[in-house]
Amino acid sequence: METQVELSKEPLIPENGDLFDIIIIGAGPAGMSAALCAGRARLKILVLDKAMPGGQTSTAYHIHNYLGFPTGILGSDLSHRMEDHLDDYNIHYSCEGVDDIGQIHSAEKNVQTDLGNFYRTKAIIVASGLVPKELGMPFEKQFLGRGVSYYAQCDGESYRDKDVVVIGGGNCACYAAEHLSKFVKSLTLVHRSDYINAVNNLREKIFNNPKINILWNSEVVDAFGIDHLDKLKLYNRTTQQHTWIDARAVFIYVGRIPEKTIMSLDLNVDEDGYVITDEYMRTNIKGIYAAGDIRSKQIRQIATAVADGMIAAINVERDVLGL
Ligand SMILES: Cc1cc2nc3c(=O)[nH]c(=O)nc-3n(C[C@H](O)[C@H](O)[C@H](O)COP(=O)(O)OP(=O)(O)OC[C@H]3O[C@@H](n4cnc5c(N)ncnc54)[C@H](O)[C@@H]3O)c2cc1C
Repeated sequence: METQVELSKEPLIPENGDLFDIIIIGAGPAGMSAALCAGRARLKILVLDKAMPGGQTSTAYHIHNYLGFPTGILGSDLSHRMEDHLDDYNIHYSCEGVDDIGQIHSAEKNVQTDLGNFYRTKAIIVASGLVPKELGMPFEKQFLGRGVSYYAQCDGESYRDKDVVVIGGGNCACYAAEHLSKFVKSLTLVHRSDYINAVNNLREKIFNNPKINILWNSEVVDAFGIDHLDKLKLYNRTTQQHTWIDARAVFIYVGRIPEKTIMSLDLNVDEDGYVITDEYMRTNIKGIYAAGDIRSKQIRQIATAVADGMIAAINVERDVLGL
């Protein structure tokens, strides 16, 4: 199913200093699910996202494992459907990044944004998700937007008929390689180990794709280009040899890490930086809840993010608003 869904109607715009029942940070699946649940309870809600609604889902390809879509759905279409679902509720929305949260231990907290606004609220649901992990190589910043990308779904089309590299060996790297291989000139998958850690059918697709060349036990260690990326330097961990290959783009998929912008909050986090909650999505700070991929948990998928968002909203209603 690859239907194009109409964009949502205009949401309500918040005013600087407004008081809300709930402020939801992040409009990915967890944040939108929380907004839906709170909207149905007729609460005064503000959703803030520093980017377009949809979160990681809008950067995903074909989603095959979300219940109700037996033939799958494009990530961008699912994002639009989720956004569309919120239309009938009075939800305030603003495209602003949350920089800080003040008065965190008070009954009325305030949220400060990168546009210089602040909003007051009785409860906060942190649903700020994950961001791509960087390799930590100088060339990433040097060529960002000029050949280095973390989003094949969004940026891939610019490299039609070009030589392209994907770094990584997990599900996301394999989906990216499979997607790009349909229209690039050559696709090299560079992986530091000798095992592809992806679901079985995806692994088979990668192995059987004649356009994908896998370089095992290899790392990208340097890059060269004048105005734009042109070549990548590889290091083979087995032979300990260096080689250069042509690459107009490199897509980096070496994992995702928790979004850290609002982590100055003294929220309890696990050793990897994920927010610890109880099963009600409560954090260690009264009135602050966390939902979705940002949480310390086993499975990070759309289904679990949606479930977390709903649980968080229900418990805000009960704990904070006494409904
Ligand atoms: C390439 C790819 C493919 C995937 N494929 C699948 C799949 O097939 N099936 C599946 O179930 N899952 C898939 N996933 C995982 C799925 O997308 C995530 O589990 C899900 O999106 C998590 O939802 P979330 O709402 O917790 O976080 P996110 O989707 O990460 O959304 C968080 C939102 O918070 C916003 N935000 C962050 N910080 C701030 C801030 N300070 N202020 C304001 N806003 C902020 C971000 O802009 C973002 O929109 C895929 C992920 C990727 C990257």
